[in-house]
Amino acid sequence: MSFISLVNVSRIFGNNENRTVALSGVSFSAEKGEFVVILGASGAGKTTLLNIIGGMDVASEGKYTVNGEDITALDSAGLTTFRRDKVGFVFQFYNLMPNLTAIENVELACAHAKERIPAREALSAVGLAHRFNHFPSTLSGGEQQRVSIARAIAKKPEILLCDEPTGALDSMTGKNILSVLKNLSREGERCVLIVTHNANIAQMADRVIRLSDGKIISDEVNPSPKDVEEIEW
Ligand code: ADP
Repeated sequence: MSFISLVNVSRIFGNNENRTVALSGVSFSAEKGEFVVILGASGAGKTTLLNIIGGMDVASEGKYTVNGEDITALDSAGLTTFRRDKVGFVFQFYNLMPNLTAIENVELACAHAKERIPAREALSAVGLAHRFNHFPSTLSGGEQQRVSIARAIAKKPEILLCDEPTGALDSMTGKNILSVLKNLSREGERCVLIVTHNANIAQMADRVIRLSDGKIISDEVNPSPKDVEEIEW
C-alpha cells in the first residue's frame, strides 16, 4: 500500500456552459521520504491537485487515500482534522503574520496541532536559530520562506505541500530553499510535494509528474536526482 494514492481523481467546476474539467482521471502514488515535483503550465490543474491532496478541496470523482484512510469519504469535520494533523503548506508569498515575530508565527500555526515540535527547534531546522525574534519585515525573502517552512513542519505533518515555493525568490535563495525542502523529505517521516512551472526543479526530484490540461502526461521516477548545487536555473 502506498502512503499517498490517487485513483482516477477528477475535479469538475461549474455546470453546463460554465463547466470546467480542472482534473481528469488523475492516478499516482507517493511515499514518505519521497521528494515529488509536479510540473505543468498555468491552468494545467496543479493548484487544484494540491488542494485535493491537502484536503482543502474534494474530488468530484475517484478515490484519494492516505495511509489507507479514504480522504474522499471524509465530511468537513474529518477534513479539518486531516488538514490540521497531517498536512503542512508552504506558499509562494509566505503568508506570514506581519505583526508577529518568527517564533510567534510558528507558535500560532501549531496552537491546535495534535503533535508539535518546539518553535525554536523548527526554526533551527531551517537555519534560522539567529532570527527567532525578528518580524517578517526585517527578514529577507528567503528567510521569510524559511519561517513559513518552519511553521509548516512544526506540527509534524506527514505531507508537506509547496505551491511555487521558490517563485518569488532569486536563483541562489531559491536553491537554498529547495535544499531545505529536500533535506526535510530525506528525514523519511514525510512526503514532500512541490508544484511548479519551473522545469529545472525536476532535476532534483525523486519523482516527476507532468500535468497538462488536467491530465497526467508522464509520471517518472528519477534514477539519479541531482544535488541542488548542480541544477541549472
Ligand atoms: P494551475 O495551478 O496549474 O495554474 P489550476 O488548478 O489553478 O491550474 O486550474 C485548472 C483549471 O481549473 C483552470 O482552467 C482554472 O480556471 C479552473 N479552476 C480552478 N479553480 C476553479 C474554481 N474554483 N472554479 C472554476 N474553475 C476553476
